[in-house]
Amino acid sequence: MVVGVVGGGQLAQMLHQAAIGLGIRVVVLDPDPRCPAALAGARRFDGTWTSRDDLIAFARSGVDVVTFDHELSAPDDLRALEAVAPVPIRPAPATKLLGQDKLHQRRTLSAQGVPVPAYAPVADMAEVEAFAATHGWPVVLKAIRGGYDGRGVWIVRDAAQAAEVLADTAGGAGLLAEELVDIAREISVMVARRPSGQARAWTAMRTTQVDGICTEVILAAPSPVEDAAAELAVELAERIELAGVMAVELFVTDGALVLNELACRPHNSGHVTMDSCVTDQFEQHLRAVLDLPLGDPAPTVPAAVMVNVLGGPAPWGAAGLGAALDVEDATLHLYGKGHRPGRKLGHVNAIGATVDQARERARRAALALGSPVG
Ligand code: ADP
Repeated sequence: MVVGVVGGGQLAQMLHQAAIGLGIRVVVLDPDPRCPAALAGARRFDGTWTSRDDLIAFARSGVDVVTFDHELSAPDDLRALEAVAPVPIRPAPATKLLGQDKLHQRRTLSAQGVPVPAYAPVADMAEVEAFAATHGWPVVLKAIRGGYDGRGVWIVRDAAQAAEVLADTAGGAGLLAEELVDIAREISVMVARRPSGQARAWTAMRTTQVDGICTEVILAAPSPVEDAAAELAVELAERIELAGVMAVELFVTDGALVLNELACRPHNSGHVTMDSCVTDQFEQHLRAVLDLPLGDPAPTVPAAVMVNVLGGPAPWGAAGLGAALDVEDATLHLYGKGHRPGRKLGHVNAIGATVDQARERARRAALALGSPVG
């Protein structure tokens, strides 16, 4: 079986890694011969995800299914692809759009009774001020499309700051205003569903964001809030007819859950499953998009922590790598990407008897690689 992945970044690389043991082949659509998945040995189909013709040629190249490493293909191109592709596109473009267009996601899910922050599309300052008059300052402004890792999210204190964001984003795909939610903590549920109907969620992960970038993910025994979040994620997966895995990012506010974002693909908050659960998100995504039985998402350890490895002032050398490898119960996942300060170059998963122990190990290994941690 051959799984075609649009984009050859680190997620495709880790899908490839999971595919090897299942006897499944991964082919990536990517213009860069040195993309992480190709460097790791995945076959590459030369082309780009922004070309409708390349997407269609890719779907006709002998793959059994087309899936995604990212959100970067235009929704119109994906609909055109779906209309002519000889193989399924999973998740379907209509499902994927919920992760690509924040306004569409808010409208669709709030109409179904899912709790989301108060929101409104805003085209000019009058609309921002009208929103603030009802919900108060600060206001959260978000790019409706194309944001990631906090790029495309601005918390603005007053009209002057809002005007700057409007000026800087003029000509883009538009903005959404949202109330600033009083967040006690953030969690993310990874959930998988196969087209014939089976759906399974992992334990909800606790996530930490610094400047909009996810820096740390914790897997631990769930409280009732995490259990409720996992139930909500399974319900959502069924309702939107998910095929594949999806991240459901939620805010916890004094006991209640508010939906923040959906990402209909393997996700950074699911990396911790690689070394701490019976089935990890990458193997599960392959199973799901091929409509094979889903694996068990149960944790195999009391606690696990994932820390992203961001580029430090200089690349790590052999000594740094050695020190990271010396950390007990920590596993490195490095993506083979060129070094740049602040760039996501890999992640460390560590397990432990407690969250504190696992976190200390994960941080120690990431620090040894020069990553700015904590
Ligand atoms: P991205 O698509 O870049 O990941 P998100 O919509 O997930 O952006 O927002 C990034 C971070 O900004 C969130 O993890 C959260 O910390 C903060 N944030 C986003 N929306 C709100 C909101 N309405 N209220 C408070 N904080 C928010």
